[in-house]
Amino acid sequence: MAIDPKKHEMPTQDPAVRAHNFNEVALGYTEEIALAEASRCLNCRNQPCVAGCPVNIHIPEFIAKVKEGKFEEAYQIISETSSLPAVCGRVCPQESQCESKCTLGIRFEPVGIGRLERFVADYHNNEVSELPEVPASNGHKVAVVGSGPSGLTCAGDLAKKGIQGNGIRSSAYGRRRSGLRYSRIPSSQEDRCQGSGNTEGARC
Ligand code: SF4
Repeated sequence: MAIDPKKHEMPTQDPAVRAHNFNEVALGYTEEIALAEASRCLNCRNQPCVAGCPVNIHIPEFIAKVKEGKFEEAYQIISETSSLPAVCGRVCPQESQCESKCTLGIRFEPVGIGRLERFVADYHNNEVSELPEVPASNGHKVAVVGSGPSGLTCAGDLAKKGIQGNGIRSSAYGRRRSGLRYSRIPSSQEDRCQGSGNTEGARC
């Protein structure tokens, strides 16, 4: 089957509609588009895209699960190395990171890794209500100062080790809320992260 040379576009709000609201402009892939985009991945043995990801997400593996329609399994693979896929799928500069290393990009447009990451995270957040399993507390507590991406990731990683990370934050919600437009990342997404960040081994 011939490979589609172009990344699948992400649906967006109609300009005439979005001119009258502050909602997120990009609407995310549908299941159908995600399956089509995942089918562009070559599943490269040397995995250059992983080396381009600051947290080394197992990119070919999660995309392979998307290709099979196993979206929750894809989410679990991403969660092995990233606590913030819904945020990173929206605001990471994938064009200069994972997607810049994508083999497909040598001849065509690279695989839409960030768009697929966002799709998988949104699928999980919309369809799965169970909270992640967290080990029993080992009695240790750590104060995490700041509730931006690094603070939330730190609290989440501590929770996975049974250490309670209590976030100390200002009302400004850290760099994410002060530095990003609502049309780029909805506040409901941030609130989900903030709400689960202290005690539940947050992933969002
Ligand atoms: S480099 Fe591109 S084509 Fe190869 S596995 Fe990674 S995402 Fe897929």
